[in-house]
Amino acid sequence: MAYLTLKNINKIYPNGFHAVHNFNLEIEKGEFVVFVGPSGCGKSTTLRMIAGLEDISNGEFLINGERANEKGPREREIAMVFQSYALYPQMTVYDNIAFGLTLQGVDEDIIEQRVNNVARILGLTDYLDRLPRALSGGQRQRVAIGRAIIRKVGVFLMDEPLSNLDAKQRVTMRYEIAQIHRETGATTIYVTHDQTEAMTLADRIVVMKDGYVQQTGTPYQLYFEPENVFVAGFIGEPPMNFLRGKVRNGTISFGEMELDLGKKLKDIGQYEGKELVFGFRPEHIQLGSHENAYEVTCNVELTEMLGDNTNVYVVAGKDHAILKVDSHDTPETDKDITFSIPYENVYIFDGETEKVIKG
Ligand code: ATP
Repeated sequence: MAYLTLKNINKIYPNGFHAVHNFNLEIEKGEFVVFVGPSGCGKSTTLRMIAGLEDISNGEFLINGERANEKGPREREIAMVFQSYALYPQMTVYDNIAFGLTLQGVDEDIIEQRVNNVARILGLTDYLDRLPRALSGGQRQRVAIGRAIIRKVGVFLMDEPLSNLDAKQRVTMRYEIAQIHRETGATTIYVTHDQTEAMTLADRIVVMKDGYVQQTGTPYQLYFEPENVFVAGFIGEPPMNFLRGKVRNGTISFGEMELDLGKKLKDIGQYEGKELVFGFRPEHIQLGSHENAYEVTCNVELTEMLGDNTNVYVVAGKDHAILKVDSHDTPETDKDITFSIPYENVYIFDGETEKVIKG
């Protein structure tokens, strides 16, 4: 039996807004699940329904197979780390971390033991006497996480816990959160709009858009087997390139070129005249001509050197694409280049339903 089960969960706010539609998910003990999607897609609302901070309008939430819809936040054995981590400014790091246990009237010795243990896991041992104002953003965030993990609950919910940190701190904290999860083995549900955070942290990712789950899967599945245009475009950086167009004589055009879709879809005849989306990832191209690949000639508009890789912005007619190349192979701006997209790395989607078509 799954540890947490969400069965056809819906949220309709009192103003009538339907924020979450038929959300289904089973979470195993110890899993790290990430809800990801653009702002307003309903990820925080879903998290808050799991926490018991928001009523579930329709559907069932089960903990260990038992209905928990009516249970209050405390009874659910769930701890939450919020986006704004508001520590008590007049309390030391030690007291901030200990606060929840102190309130519960836990024995001083046990509190001390647990705070020291949490501080060790979080690398805060040397800061226990400090006030929050004397800490960096990353250290404050660790204190906030410490306050949650000290409670030894079954589930940790984290709502954009890294959003107040700068880019460098986010990378460090991401690593630390992964370490904390490894050490505590706690079931974690983590909300973010950042696909990199989702990909690097998750055992499984739930991609949401406009209140609907688009796909649930491992980072590998979402990257290599996206089920629709939205997931294909959301996961991966830079995003997947899409060419949208009507199929004419079994081809779709990229600038002046016609790409023979029969190479990818055996039954291309049935799509004649219909709109399809041809997708390929920037990092899946090869410069020059290659066997078993679509060949495209285009003009280089701009290059962006990122270190070992360079993003190359190309244009053919009115079609644009981004290619990711080894920086040693960076082409010159304004020159024409030829690149190849191996058939196996091409995704075809239905232009109407936006769902992937398997060839
Ligand atoms: P963000 O990343 O911006 O926090 P999110 O994906 O977490 O976005 P939610 O906060 O879950 O999104 O909100 C989902 C939708 O529900 C949004 O359109 C939001 O405006 C709406 N919403 C949130 N709270 C309420 C409320 N109390 N009443 C009515 N609508 C609400």
